[in-house]
Formats: sequence, C-alpha cells, structure tokens
Amino acid sequence: MQTLVVDDSAVFRKLISHHLRSWNFGVTLAETGSEAWRILQQPDAPKLVLLDWVLPDLEGTELCRRIRQAGSSGPYVYVILLTGKEGHQNMLDAMQAGADDYLAKPFDELELKARLLVGKRILELQEELVAARESMRHAATHDSLTGLMNRGEIVALLRRELERSRREHRPVGIILGDIDHFKNVNDTLGHLFGDEALREIGLRLRSQLRIYDGVGRYGGEEFLMVLPNCDLPNILLRADELRKSIAQTPVVYSGQESNITMSMGVTVSYSEDKNELEALLNQADAALYAAKENGRNRIEHFTADKKAAASRNRQAT
Ligand code: GH3
Ligand code: MG
Ligand code: MG
Repeated sequence: MQTLVVDDSAVFRKLISHHLRSWNFGVTLAETGSEAWRILQQPDAPKLVLLDWVLPDLEGTELCRRIRQAGSSGPYVYVILLTGKEGHQNMLDAMQAGADDYLAKPFDELELKARLLVGKRILELQEELVAARESMRHAATHDSLTGLMNRGEIVALLRRELERSRREHRPVGIILGDIDHFKNVNDTLGHLFGDEALREIGLRLRSQLRIYDGVGRYGGEEFLMVLPNCDLPNILLRADELRKSIAQTPVVYSGQESNITMSMGVTVSYSEDKNELEALLNQADAALYAAKENGRNRIEHFTADKKAAASRNRQAT
C-alpha cells in the first residue's frame, strides 16, 4: 500500500522511508503541507498519510481539516498525525481536526508499524464496502440476464435526456423493439435457448449503438433505446441498422440455431414539443404495434393515426 510521508526534516523523511519500505509500504514524499495537498488532489493518490504537525507553510492539523472537507466524494484518506507535542489536549485537537490516529515523536518504530497496519486494515475494509455498494447499485439498476439497464434505469435515462434536450434544443429519438414470435422460439428450442437469444440480441443492440446512446431491457423480450440528438430521418436509419444486425445472423446456441427478427416502433421528441415521458412511450408503443400489424421484422414511426389504430385494436381484443 502506498503511503504519503509529509515532513520538512530530510533526516526524518529518510529514516521513515527506510522503515516503511522494509515493511513493504510504498512511499511518496512531501516536504510541505501545500506539496502534500497537491499530491492528494491527483488521481490514485496515496490513501494512507503520515503527517507532521509542524510544517513550514500549512500546519498538519489544517491539512487534516482540508482533507476531511474535501472528503465525501473521493476514497477515504487515513491520516496518522506525528508530532513533537505531547499531552492530551494536543491529541484531542488532532482528532478533532480529522486525524484518525496520533503518534508523539520520538516514537518506537514497532508502534508506528502497528498504527500503519491498523490504517491499512481500515482502508481495505473501506474499499470492500465501496465495492459492495457499487455492485449492489449495479444489481439494482441492471438486468441480470442481459447485463443491460433495467426498465427503471432506462426510463430514468430517458427522463434525463428529455430534460437535457429541452435545455439544449436538440431532439431525442426513442426506439422500442420487440422480438417477433419469441414465444415460438421458447416453445420449439427451449427456454434456455430463449435466454441465450435475449442475451445475444442485447449484445448486438449495445454494440451497434454509440457510447452515449442508452439501451435497456424494457420487459420480457422488449428493449428500449434512447438516442440523444437523433432526428426522425436519422433514427429511422439507425433503427434499420439495428434491425438488420439481428435479422442477418441467426442466433446459435448449443448446436441449435434460430433466425430471430425484431419489430421496432420509433418516435422522436423535439425540444419544442414539451412531450411528457409517458406520452412518448405510448407513441413508441403505438408505432411498435403498427410494425407488428404490418408484418413484423420492420420499423414504423409514430403518427397520430397509428395511435388511434393501436388503441382501437387493443380495445377490440
Ligand atoms: P410477437 O411477435 O407478437 O411479439 O409475439 P411473441 O411471441 O414475441 O409475443 P408474446 O408476448 O406472446 O410472447 C413473449 C414471450 O417472451 C413469452 C415469454 O415466455 C418470453 N419471454 C419473456 N421473458 C423471457 C425470458 O427472460 N427468457 C425467455 N426464455 N423467454 C422470455
Ligand atoms: Mg414479441
Ligand atoms: Mg412483447
């Protein structure tokens, strides 16, 4: 683990680096508080800091305060304050300034080693907690089968993009895709094959889209795609590329294969439209319905008459 040693005495820096290296800690050195502060701003800065109380420019306690004030966004920085000052009041001052531990100079080297090991253990626990929180966040926002965003997350992304499109006066294109006759795929080739097909189609969609386009699993075999800054002629072209990337290559799994196709409903929100999220999703759904009605493996875009036709037919069934 990398440590940052902050001390204005060259002799002390040399002595302490020697010990730290012999205990397998990496060492970064700083002579002043402001130099230490600059190092700590860098990406991948050391998270374990041995800090002298008295420094030429910035006091160790002041640096501690700065670290804590900046703290909540980045990874935790564990600070051991080293000082020639003795007494309980000083110890309390150091802790209140945000130090995690305190050691009076001159100190016993084994005592320093013990304190460093505690710091290392706490930082490792902290990293595990952050990783666990990150994986829980991922699980709550992504679909476990395809690894794509789940419904809640892709709809949240669409909401954000609609807000941005109004601010920046740009369109947002939406594609709602639904696999054709997917029930037949499950019925003839089995549910495992169906799962694999969903995974494969998710991959094909993701790899065709740009990095700032969003794709999520909207329902069982339905995918929602959000394409910022995409007007109607553009999104029709893009949707057709997506459609072809699915239709042109069969899905193969475990010695079986199937030609799978997708129907897509497309709509675009222009910044002046003031479209509500739900209305847009309904438009994409009505267009998708028309694509199914008109023979599948095709794309339709929303027009007012499609909405009327879709709702009429839904009422009839
Ligand atoms: P259409 O062309 O009209 O869309 O027909 P369809 O058969 O695709 O539509 P339908 O809504 O009748 O059937 C959807 C099927 O998708 C039924 C369901 O079992 C299947 N499905 C949904 N989620 C999953 C999944 O996670 N894995 C598998 N293997 N199948 C799924
Ligand atoms: Mg379907
Ligand atoms: Mg469906």
